[in-house]
Amino acid sequence: MQRRIALVDVNNFYVSCERVFRPDLEGKPVVVLSNNDGCVVARSAEVKALGVPMGLPWFQMKELAREHRILAFSSNYTLYGDLSARVMSVLGQFAPDQEVYSIDESFLDFTRQPHLDLTTTGHCIRERVKQWVGVPVSVGIGSTKTLAKLANHVAKRRAGWNGVCDLGTLPGSDLEADMTFAVKRAGGWVSLHERFDEFPGGDAASTTDGGSS
Ligand SMILES: [Mg+2]
Repeated sequence: MQRRIALVDVNNFYVSCERVFRPDLEGKPVVVLSNNDGCVVARSAEVKALGVPMGLPWFQMKELAREHRILAFSSNYTLYGDLSARVMSVLGQFAPDQEVYSIDESFLDFTRQPHLDLTTTGHCIRERVKQWVGVPVSVGIGSTKTLAKLANHVAKRRAGWNGVCDLGTLPGSDLEADMTFAVKRAGGWVSLHERFDEFPGGDAASTTDGGSS
């Protein structure tokens, strides 16, 4: 039986947590800094657009921060842990099988609900998490965890998807283009393979290998 797996991932998690209590920061450039305010561990979309990489030491970007009025927060892991638990609890209501994968990522297995429209479900998930917890999520859907992860990359970075991408609904040509894009962004098959300890066989894998070479 074809598996149906969704990966739900909070966008810019630490920054999104800070924005729950500071809605005035929506649309403004925000970073969260590591312990002792050493370096950047989370960036809002506005900061990513300025080309600030993860891990950049704060002292190296102070001028840029002044110029663009970037707001910096000290990390608050108690807050992030609490909001993570709330997100996971909401997500658990959508599928019988949930695997919490990291502080801001969860796999949901819909294989036992073959008739459920997962694009619609993905949009419901987004709305409910935003409404009940206050953070934005993206939803990627595929037949393996790896493909769900790639679909999540596409959902997050292509505006037209509105935060939800089900690879199963894509025509072949779109699938090839989007998967190549996603693999480039995600750092390639090898790292994904190692990360999830599984590898999708068949057409999807060979298409993507061909497309990215
Ligand atoms: Mg995330």
